[in-house]
Parts: sequence; C-alpha cells; structure tokens
Amino acid sequence: MPKPNLHFPITEAPAQGIPTAVAPGVYWLRMPLPFSLDHINLWIIEDDDGWNLIDTGIGTEACVELWRKIMLDNKDAKPVKRIFVTHMHPDHVGLAGWLCKKWDVPLYMSRTDYLMCRVLVNDSYREAPEAGLQFYASAGLSEEQLEYYQTKFGGFGKMIKPLPDQYQRLQEGDSFTMANHSWEIIKGTGHAPEQMTFLCRDLNLYISGDQLLPSISSNVSVWPTEPDSNPLQDWLDSCAMLQEKLPEDVLVLPAHERPFTGAYERLQHLQDGHQRGLDKLLAACNQPKRVVDLFSCLFRREIDNTVLTLAVGETMAHLNLMIVKGLLSRHTDAHGVHWYKRTT
Ligand SMILES: [Zn+2]
Repeated sequence: MPKPNLHFPITEAPAQGIPTAVAPGVYWLRMPLPFSLDHINLWIIEDDDGWNLIDTGIGTEACVELWRKIMLDNKDAKPVKRIFVTHMHPDHVGLAGWLCKKWDVPLYMSRTDYLMCRVLVNDSYREAPEAGLQFYASAGLSEEQLEYYQTKFGGFGKMIKPLPDQYQRLQEGDSFTMANHSWEIIKGTGHAPEQMTFLCRDLNLYISGDQLLPSISSNVSVWPTEPDSNPLQDWLDSCAMLQEKLPEDVLVLPAHERPFTGAYERLQHLQDGHQRGLDKLLAACNQPKRVVDLFSCLFRREIDNTVLTLAVGETMAHLNLMIVKGLLSRHTDAHGVHWYKRTT
C-alpha cells in the first residue's frame, strides 16, 4: 500500500514544556509520556485575557512540575481561562482536574467521555471484575496472561488526577471564539466514545487529538464493558466524515508526532489499512479461529503481555464489524472461548 504524501512544514518539534507559536495566537506544547510513545502535543490558544488549553498531559509528577514551570517561570504566560479535553485517555485528561482546581476554571469535554472517564477511574480501585476476566478468556488468553491482566488492572485511573465534579458539555457543532477566530467542534468516534476536535477555517488549522495522526494508527478497540460494540464502523464512518468536512490543505495539529498537511490522503490510507486487515482476517477464518490465533493478520510485531489488551481489543473490533455485516459467525465453546468462522 503506497504511503500517503504528507508534508510536515515544521521540521523541529519544540523542547518539552516550551510553548512554541505555530500560528498567530496558537502554541504547540510538548509534554513527556512515560511510554514507548514518549510525548503528547498539547495546544494553547491565546486570548487577550488568558489561555485556552486543549488537552492537559498525563498525571505524573514530571508533568505537574513542567506545568508549574510553564505557568510561573514563563514571562509570557497568561492565566488559564478554559480547559478543553479532546477525549478521556490519561495522556489527554490526566491533569485536567489539577489544572481546573489550580485556576478555578471549567472543564469542557463531551458528556460521554467525561462520564465514562469517571466510571473507569472509580473502577481502577477495584479488583479486576469477573466480566473482564471472562471477556479476555473468550479471546483465548492463557491462565498466565489472565493473571497479568489482573495484576495490571487499574492502571488507567492511576494516571489521572481526580476529575472535577462538574463539567461543561462539548457537542458537535458548538463553536468558540479563540485568538479572535471561530473554532468549530467536530465529533469523532471509534478511538474514544466521543472525541472532540477543533477546526478553525480562518487559520486553516485542525486540532485533531488522536482522531487523526500522521503515522500512528490510533487504537480502535472493543473493551470488556461493551463486548459486542462495533467501534471500527464508528472509526471508518468518522474517517469518511472528516474527508468531507476538512479543507484539503488544512494544517493538522495532532496529539502525537508533528503537524502535517495531507489529511484527505491520510484518512484514505487509514480506511484502506483497516479494509486490508478485514480481508486478511476473513480469509484466515475459513477455518474456525480464536482472537489470539489472528494477531498475525493485523500486527507485524510480537504481541507480548504489555500490549495484549490493545491487540485483543483491536482484533475484536475487526471481527465484530464482520459479524454485524454477516460475514462471520461466532461460536462459544464449553470453556467460554469464542471461535470465529466465515459464513460464506
Ligand atoms: Zn487516545
């Protein structure tokens, strides 16, 4: 599959913790992540009376320290007036509660992501639920892999500082005037329940969160809370919707990697990649297969314990889409393991 022809007009990413202008009143702020993906891009949109933040960074002490420096040591810093969070993942929402409290300002988020995030953070301080164990057992995980899932359960909430008890709902079609221009809210789905992204037609900028990244393909997963969900259809529908909505030459400001142009081609490449995955899985299911038998159809890398739940979720997302379309059937054996087989 040919790579899309993307352009990266800004060659150097800024140093961590240094807000750097990318357009009039719009700043790129890099913050560290303690993972193999080692950074996230946050965006600051400046008004005369303060900063609008888009995303906040993960809830680690390293990021808290960086924020303190940005707000205290930086002579150009303005008070924070609004905090927007694109979606509920810890690298985006992690410090929202801390920042809202510090500045006594509201959190703006989609209703589904706000509520889902609060539920998941609460769940993080329980034992792994039986439904979760059954879900991963149904994918064919071994006893040892299920034990690993149990020991790691709760990691999600531990990277998120307590969320505010109130929030302001962001919805598709809302708009905000920031940096003297109108920013339109566009909702994307599939990677998070309702990811909110920001399009400024005047500046020709699109703050995409994780809905559109230049080379990482965002994880699209089925999770134990909704085992029969069809997030891949949501994701593909969102890709097609964005192809319609985004100006062709828009500069995309993504949450990871570097700003780029070529949104239309990138969105096409993402859709084509998933279609290829679907075709491979369907061919493999000429004989009954479990989720764990199918990883090699979608992933080039070895699936170790650290990425197991993502791999199960993403594989199941492809399989569930084909069940909905009637291309696959699913049979559950006496041990509760699902077997997938082609229907035609
Ligand atoms: Zn995300």
